[in-house]
Amino acid sequence: MGKLFVISGSSGVGKGTLLKLFLSRNPEFKLSVSCTTRTPRDGEVHGINYFYLSQDEFQKLIDNNEFLEWAEFSGNRYGTQKAYVEKKLSEGKNLILELDTIGALNVKKIMPEAKLIFILPPSFDELEARLRGRHTETEDAIQKRLNSTKAEIERSTQYDYRIVNDDLDKAVEELENIMCS
Ligand code: ADP
Ligand code: 5GP
Repeated sequence: MGKLFVISGSSGVGKGTLLKLFLSRNPEFKLSVSCTTRTPRDGEVHGINYFYLSQDEFQKLIDNNEFLEWAEFSGNRYGTQKAYVEKKLSEGKNLILELDTIGALNVKKIMPEAKLIFILPPSFDELEARLRGRHTETEDAIQKRLNSTKAEIERSTQYDYRIVNDDLDKAVEELENIMCS
């Protein structure tokens, strides 16, 4: 069986960037593909970044009890399919779930062996600058995402590990120390 890791952190903190570098250096890990009702950003691809579903399609998966966990974040729904996680772990893959803090703590309840890792920004101003610098969200979406930061950081005290993403290379090394030991 593969090992299960859950990574969370405020929107714009650099989770995607960090994981891309980590995965390029550690190909034995696999990033789970979640379902979402949010619209794809430029360059995002169905089946690679997310499975992009309509509200109805997402609701059907909830009704059929197909999600390991799901949560509403910033006005959209996001969920991880049980069968997907079971298949990857049984194939021996070390699987990474990138989840919001509510989803992550739900996974920990169901699968206590999962290791929870929270990525912190060096400061709130730097977080805002990164989120704005990405140019992917509307002002309304940026405000919603920044507003959830405080509650997420509070929930992160229940995580197994916390890493500050200041210098990217150092943060990847810390991730490797935790995940590859
Ligand atoms: P998330 O996936 O957490 O929402 P992203 O990976 O999209 O965040 O990163 C948000 C922005 O911050 C991107 O423009 C990215 O290039 C930048 N970024 C990520 N990590 C760092 C870092 N350590 N230092 C400076 N900028 C960073
Ligand atoms: P984004 O819209 O920026 O891709 O993701 C927004 C938030 O949703 C991030 O905090 C991300 O970690 C979280 N997320 C992505 N997939 C899932 C999922 O399957 N379940 C839960 N609970 N959160 C998810």
